[in-house]
Amino acid sequence: MADQAVSPCPWHLPVWDALTAGSRHAHAFLFAGLPGVGKRLFAEAFAAHLLCLQPQSGRACGQCRSCHLRQAGSHPDRLVVEPEEQGKAIRIDAIRQLGDFMGQTAQQGGRKVIILHPAEAMNLNAANALLKSLEEPTSDTYLLLVSDQPSRLLPTIRSRCRVQPLVTPGHAEAMAWLQHSLPDLDAEQHGALLLMAGGAPLRAIALHEMDAASLRQQVVEGVKALLKNQQSASQLAERWPNLPLELLADWFCDWTLDLLRLKTGAMEAPVNTDMDKVLPYMARHLQLPALLNWQSWLLQHRGMLLGKANLNRVLFIETLLIQWKQLLERR
Ligand SMILES: [Zn+2]
Repeated sequence: MADQAVSPCPWHLPVWDALTAGSRHAHAFLFAGLPGVGKRLFAEAFAAHLLCLQPQSGRACGQCRSCHLRQAGSHPDRLVVEPEEQGKAIRIDAIRQLGDFMGQTAQQGGRKVIILHPAEAMNLNAANALLKSLEEPTSDTYLLLVSDQPSRLLPTIRSRCRVQPLVTPGHAEAMAWLQHSLPDLDAEQHGALLLMAGGAPLRAIALHEMDAASLRQQVVEGVKALLKNQQSASQLAERWPNLPLELLADWFCDWTLDLLRLKTGAMEAPVNTDMDKVLPYMARHLQLPALLNWQSWLLQHRGMLLGKANLNRVLFIETLLIQWKQLLERR
């Protein structure tokens, strides 16, 4: 019996089978794909496979000494490198530790595996230090980088890894998987979560766990009140103390894309049905150049958020809302 706890997502099985069929592997992998498609799970499963002393049909056996140590979270030849706090940078100290780990002999006499996640969180010093380790690979050590944004990595790091894209499943497969994973929700809720998650099923689960649907509902109501002059931008900015800014930026990006499609006639109704009255109204009344200016501001700030920039929270929300409202005023 293989260890089911470390299985890749079903939509990654073709890649998995191809990867595990051979016995010789690259020493550095870069698993890349959208947030929430199952890259981390894939890397964990692959690490388990590499460490297992007797893999069965391409999976970690779950029975051997090495698998037992891994299950107990105390495998001495497995290292996970990640930010000390979520959303923070991976610093050079962590990469120095990684270098020391690479230099040691495997304590269990087999392979050593390092999972580095998310790779784009390395600051420049850390990235340069990693580059040194990549240039001097040790024969029994495997480095698994995981990244949502591989384009943010140094090209010299990317080029030293085997880049393995991990795809987003098709809509039907994702919906079926969500139905199985969140049986208490109905298909409409699954669809709304999946839409918010850009089609990535594990991201949809994470959004569900942070109650993103009701946060989004609050923002939708707030935006409507803003446009009707019932609430000011500064009032709303104070009202959302727990709203993750990345989510807010993502939603406005989604709505902006709908505005562009509506404005250019590419579509008659918005994809985002929670704004199905507001967006067509706005599209009729705004000017395309103003919309394009707004979109470039929004994308720039979303990039800053993804780059872990420290934005002043209230000021960011207020500026965003003021500009959104001004779309209707700039004739
Ligand atoms: Zn095993």
